[in-house]
Amino acid sequence: ALYQPPDITKPCYVRVNTLKLDVDSALHELGKQFKVQKDDMIPHLLVLPPHTDLHNHSLVLNGSIFVQGKASSMVAAVLDPKPGWEVLDACSAPGNKTVHLAALMKGKGKIIACELNKDRAKRLEDTVRLSGAANIEVLHGDFLNIDPKGPFSKVSAILLDPSCSGSGTAAQRLDHLLPSRTTDFVDTERLNKLAAFQKKALAHALSFPAVKRIVYSTCSVNQIENEDVVNSVLPLATSNGFQLATPFPQWQRRGLPVFEGSEHLLRTDPVEDKEGFFIALFVKKGSEKNSEE
Ligand code: SAM
Repeated sequence: ALYQPPDITKPCYVRVNTLKLDVDSALHELGKQFKVQKDDMIPHLLVLPPHTDLHNHSLVLNGSIFVQGKASSMVAAVLDPKPGWEVLDACSAPGNKTVHLAALMKGKGKIIACELNKDRAKRLEDTVRLSGAANIEVLHGDFLNIDPKGPFSKVSAILLDPSCSGSGTAAQRLDHLLPSRTTDFVDTERLNKLAAFQKKALAHALSFPAVKRIVYSTCSVNQIENEDVVNSVLPLATSNGFQLATPFPQWQRRGLPVFEGSEHLLRTDPVEDKEGFFIALFVKKGSEKNSEE
């Protein structure tokens, strides 16, 4: 039989940049032209019909809304930083999640947005400018070289969205689902390299002394970049006082059952949820009650 590609038509999602526009005004403006509604799970996220073309829309051009997928919009929401916190975005460019953090913090407190690649750091600066956030410091450098006991020793939360294979999203998705594709085609060496960096970066994040919450996320569907990375740092996480928490408990799809505790992890499926993402949340024991400080 002929191969039938799965239906991956997805709605168009936009996140309202609440630093510039409130959700009701965005609904009103967009509602003049499109069928639009609020997402049932993520605050400030709106859902429009598939293929809605917004790239020249005035609200996009002036940074009032950002076209951003649902799974991608979950990540900063899971970190849930409070206004006034100091937050480190470890691998930031192009900055969609950075400016989401700024909106959640209502522009109060400080975000350090680290990015290794020079050209991508420029794109990050453009995103920050467009968002209107005044509390983001762009740091062009290697997250692994940031001294946890140095000038950023006071950060309360870290968002770690490192380079990954991208196997859960767009371009590679159909390719990866083709039945003829076998594990022989997977570039094991590349995956191993990515996983080694991801583990190092997550262990580094876990070593910041004042951190209460860490989110680790990828747009990959590979166990080696997801559950295996989390599992490998669990002894360190435990000895540093962290435990896994359950982001969006109402979400059905959890981590692959490959270690005890993987039910805390969140996965989205590249076909059924239209993009494949992975999210893990580490919380410092005892910090849950005073998360408002
Ligand atoms: N969080 C971003 C967003 O939502 O817009 C996407 C981040 S992308 C998946 C990963 C980024 O990490 C890339 O821009 C890459 O250049 C950067 N990166 C890779 N290694 C890094 C390192 N050691 N330190 C800082 N940034 C790094």
